[in-house]
Amino acid sequence: MANKECYQCGIPITGKSLKFDIGNGKVEDFCCFGCYLINKTTGLRGEEGNAVAFLGKFGFGYFLAMLVFMLSTYLYGAHMTPDDPQAKAFTNIIKYIILILATPVMILLGIPILKNSFSRHNWLNFNTDTLIAIGAFSAYFLSVYSVLTGKSAIYFETATMILVLVTFGRYLETSSRVKASNFMKELLKLVPQKARVLIDGKEIEVLAETVNVGDIVVVKPGEKIPADGVIIEGKAHIDESMLTGEIKPVLKKEGNQVYAGTINTDGSLKIEVAKPSKEWTVNRFIELMKEIRNSKAPITRITDTVSAYFLPVMLSLSAGAFAYWYVEEGFEKALITSMSVLLISCPCAFSIGAPLALWIGLSEAFREGIIIKGADILEKLSSVKTVFFDKTGTITERFLQVHKIKAKDEEVIKKACALEKHSEHPLAVSFENYCRMKNLDCDCKVEDFKVYFGYGIEGVVDCERIYLGNKKLVEKIGLEIPKEIEKLEKEAENSAEIPVFIFNDNEVLGIITFAQKIKDEAPIAIKALRKLKLKIGVLTGDTPYFAKILRKKLGIEHIKAGLLPEDKIKEIEKEKKEGKVVAMVGDGINDAPALSKADIGIAMGCGTDITKESADVSLVSDDLRKVPLVLLLAKKVKRIIYTNIFWAFIYNIIGIGFALTGNLSPILAALAMVLSSAFVIGNSIRVKNW
Ligand code: ADP
Ligand code: MG
Repeated sequence: MANKECYQCGIPITGKSLKFDIGNGKVEDFCCFGCYLINKTTGLRGEEGNAVAFLGKFGFGYFLAMLVFMLSTYLYGAHMTPDDPQAKAFTNIIKYIILILATPVMILLGIPILKNSFSRHNWLNFNTDTLIAIGAFSAYFLSVYSVLTGKSAIYFETATMILVLVTFGRYLETSSRVKASNFMKELLKLVPQKARVLIDGKEIEVLAETVNVGDIVVVKPGEKIPADGVIIEGKAHIDESMLTGEIKPVLKKEGNQVYAGTINTDGSLKIEVAKPSKEWTVNRFIELMKEIRNSKAPITRITDTVSAYFLPVMLSLSAGAFAYWYVEEGFEKALITSMSVLLISCPCAFSIGAPLALWIGLSEAFREGIIIKGADILEKLSSVKTVFFDKTGTITERFLQVHKIKAKDEEVIKKACALEKHSEHPLAVSFENYCRMKNLDCDCKVEDFKVYFGYGIEGVVDCERIYLGNKKLVEKIGLEIPKEIEKLEKEAENSAEIPVFIFNDNEVLGIITFAQKIKDEAPIAIKALRKLKLKIGVLTGDTPYFAKILRKKLGIEHIKAGLLPEDKIKEIEKEKKEGKVVAMVGDGINDAPALSKADIGIAMGCGTDITKESADVSLVSDDLRKVPLVLLLAKKVKRIIYTNIFWAFIYNIIGIGFALTGNLSPILAALAMVLSSAFVIGNSIRVKNW
């Protein structure tokens, strides 16, 4: 039964799913009766006609229930003058009128709830609705019996108002829930429907999902990009906000990648389709989102378990109350009391409190370009005490400027470039860009490529074994660094640049120095983290010199320089041993081991590659401010969950107390139930204003 999701709201179904016929003999799973109601009333996924029919039913039921309620207040008064025969006759007529008015309400609103209890797919779908239906119908039949036999136990107003309140409560609960979690729908809406394909010079409109790799599609200003591909003609500002969280449209021209679902704001484009629809970024996002949604946080497991015990416990309490009051005051009081107990103890508020807030939190993060890969991770994020940063590409800009190059000849640089093409390290990508600009690009064949994490890389380029890396790697191979290159190395170090040596098995062939820049937003991000009272540290493979600069510019105390990947892991382990929850922020490429060792690995700048990352949290952009942002969000979600659970619990305990002692009418109990759900929903939606 796991991994089923509600047909209406799309939220994974916790516990038993409800099965409803949605017309045409199609049966779908719903998480609650409310979702089924919404489905019928809004016609969002069903037919409009059904919607109107249902609203009509509910409106009519409500109207009748109000009449029943008003006339019943007359009955209360009527008991005052028991001896007046005329009044008695009139009262009798009123009783029959109430009976006649109440009956259609029971049919219109009671039957659907009752049906919910006996579904054709699992015969007895025992749930809180069953209890509500049993309660309401017993009150109704007791009243009918009283009217026919002239007894005074008449509870039509209770029976009908309960149904109205419960139905309304479910409706309210679900419609807010659907609104709160419509992010998935927004994503789905992004998926393009139509594409205009260029065939023999003619534009032909086809279904977007049917375009083939290699097709040329035409996109006009203001239109959605219909497929993942590469621009082959034209340029335009593209709004990629839904995929990257970046509000400003980005200028893209020939040769640039574009993504299905993003919007071409101002240009005419021809795009060559590069991937089949299954592999489009937007579709991969949707798949990922579904997976994330099916995840469960420990806190949800706790509330689920509690809810599961709720039903049998409350059932016994209710039965106990019935027995007690039956002996004390008879059937009538027993029925009313046990009904109040059932109504007040409906664990709706309790069971939606945690998943709703978590789910809104995950969606809000997604919207910001922060992909948290599960509810459990969001929960864990809230207790992070230490944040470690990698340096290159994390604290400093991912793209580094090549400052100086000294090499034996151009051939060496070209070979170095060919080798770096196989590495994803920020240094490598920056160098490759530099070479392309300087026409030093080379497609030499590379064999036997190897990465020495924390040191550099190695490979056979055109039959020559070439290494690229730091001083440690040079020493590892056992080479002397020539004087002139050593001089450049010293210079680089003194200006906080990164020196990278090029060498083979026999000699050092050259050096490249890279200028690095601390990200502009780094001071703001660090300040925000400090406000959250977190321990902040930087773990870097770079020289202590740059560490000093970081300490000075960012005020980060805990900086460890000259670390190998395994040293970074040791630092993390040390921190964990002290009982702290550690988050590690890195680029997710060369620091993957550290990211996975930390309690939470946060990978930056994943772009649209979020799905393949090994990290627990992927940031689409390179913006460091997202780190304090996600921690803040997690804390807020946690706070809201705790207030939800606290109030839902308190309300239940107090309510049950009143109900058991016979001090709470069923109508008030139903009203309280609606209000408590409304409170939990309203509270959870506050996650949105973080
Ligand atoms: P950090 O991210 O803290 O700077 P890394 O472990 O990523 O540390 O890298 C450490 C050092 O290893 C780099 O400063 C660089 O000298 C060397 N290095 C790693 N990968 C490469 C590469 N692909 N090309 C050249 N040098 C590299
Ligand atoms: Mg790194």
